[in-house]
Amino acid sequence: MTTMQKNNLPTADDLRDRVRVALQAVGADAALGEPGVSGLAAGSPITGDVLFSVPETSPAAAGAAVDEAAAAFAGWRTTPAPVRGALVARLGELLTEHKADLATLVTVEAGKISSEALGEVQEMIDICQFAVGLSRQLYGKTIASERPGHRLMETWHPLGVVGVITAFNFPVAVWAWNTAVALVCGDTVVWKPSELTPLTAIACQTLIERACADVGVDGSVSRLVQGGRDIGEALIDDPRVALVSATGSVRMGREVGPRVAQRFGKALLELGGNNAAIVTPSADLDLAVRAIVFSAAGTAGQRCTTMRRVIAHSSIADELCRRIAAAYETLPIGDPSVDGTLVGPLIHSRSYRDMVGALQTAAADGGEVIGGHRHDMGAEDAFYVAPALVRMPGQTEVVHNETFAPILYVLTYDDLDTAIELNNAVPQGLSSAIFTTDIREAERFMAADGSDCGIANVNIGTSGAEIGGAFGGEKETGGGRESGSDAWKAYMRRATNTVNYSSELPLAQGVRFG
Ligand code: NAD
Repeated sequence: MTTMQKNNLPTADDLRDRVRVALQAVGADAALGEPGVSGLAAGSPITGDVLFSVPETSPAAAGAAVDEAAAAFAGWRTTPAPVRGALVARLGELLTEHKADLATLVTVEAGKISSEALGEVQEMIDICQFAVGLSRQLYGKTIASERPGHRLMETWHPLGVVGVITAFNFPVAVWAWNTAVALVCGDTVVWKPSELTPLTAIACQTLIERACADVGVDGSVSRLVQGGRDIGEALIDDPRVALVSATGSVRMGREVGPRVAQRFGKALLELGGNNAAIVTPSADLDLAVRAIVFSAAGTAGQRCTTMRRVIAHSSIADELCRRIAAAYETLPIGDPSVDGTLVGPLIHSRSYRDMVGALQTAAADGGEVIGGHRHDMGAEDAFYVAPALVRMPGQTEVVHNETFAPILYVLTYDDLDTAIELNNAVPQGLSSAIFTTDIREAERFMAADGSDCGIANVNIGTSGAEIGGAFGGEKETGGGRESGSDAWKAYMRRATNTVNYSSELPLAQGVRFG
């Protein structure tokens, strides 16, 4: 649609202009074709229009990108880590300079509201800073040897080429989490972004190539391949790709994990979540409601950490639901690039169909649905929805699924053991939270018999993690950890070295031989 649309949505031509301006600002000279020309369709959920056609990588060209990254690895792995850090420092500077341009592209392609899009780019800048520090802290251990005159230690070495496969909903941050850390660890990277967000990928690739040129590094340390799952498959099946770091749905992880394992490659899987918050009788309800509304309705329910379940104590459940429903009523829904909008569009029609289907199933299971209707923005192919609150009589099958849309199921409990059981009773294990002012409840939630998730928060929502901690989840979420803490170890290989500096040859475990 190129005409002015109802409810002041921008036109497709407006969006094209924004994309051109942002790409030009970062220095990308990508050959963007007219929509319909062969290649990847680059669209926007804001209006549902296809904006451009973007060159698509063939499987053969994906193999060539791995060739280049593998060749670059030979030199990069012996480049001192702090020198590798200088490249990531330069990337961080360029990201800071182009924060607004990248955020514009994130909003256009993924439909994130401006402040969340800026936040996503800030996360890239933060991880660059983290990785630069890390480049001087790739420590191994020295271990007491049981033998006299011996030194036992661990050293960490680069792995090789890292294949990074990313999802549409964090089109730039997840690439940066992986790339910044992989590069300082001495790995080279081949990135396959979501086929739904090729424009942001072009911008990121332009910036990393510029950073390479600025610090005198071969740009082949970071390559971009664009396409759908066949291009992802070209990476996962390539034995030169030492680590596949794949972010996306559980379905994708089920395919990627075994295929990489088949060739004894390493996989780091960051898959779907089904995140809950327990709200106890002692909770500060004002704070809980604010956190729940951001976690459940923010990003239109399209974060892996989106809150999908509230497990409320029966004494406060009615009051909590009343307050969440009231807050939902006030949420501005619409064009994500307009200041003040808090809920933007779903990514595509399939997400909307999934949402409608899940709500119908929940209602058939006895759920009481509040909200969840389509918000008419006058654009047939754009899907804006009111977040849905669903009071469920119990945790039926539909509540076990991750529906990638703003649906918040409310369950009730009477004792904390039951609440924790409900929290853990889903196949996914990404993020979780408890709202309580009772230290016993808070500690119990984080203990070994508490939440089984990779993230267990107290008095904050399930989404919006900081990069300093390791990020990831258990069970069907895949078990991978990225970003801060010691997540870097997944990007390196460990060697155990024993050095005998004596003139004797004592054997371990007291073994005598000859
Ligand atoms: P998706 O699984 O459809 O696609 C993710 C990526 O995998 C895309 O680049 C896609 O092309 C690629 N892909 C799909 N099948 C593949 C295959 N067989 N081999 C290789 N590559 C393949 O996911 P999506 O719809 O883009 O993103 C939403 C999902 O991602 C949600 O489930 C969400 O929870 C999850 N997610 C998880 C995290 C996390 O850190 N745990 C972060 C963001 C998103």
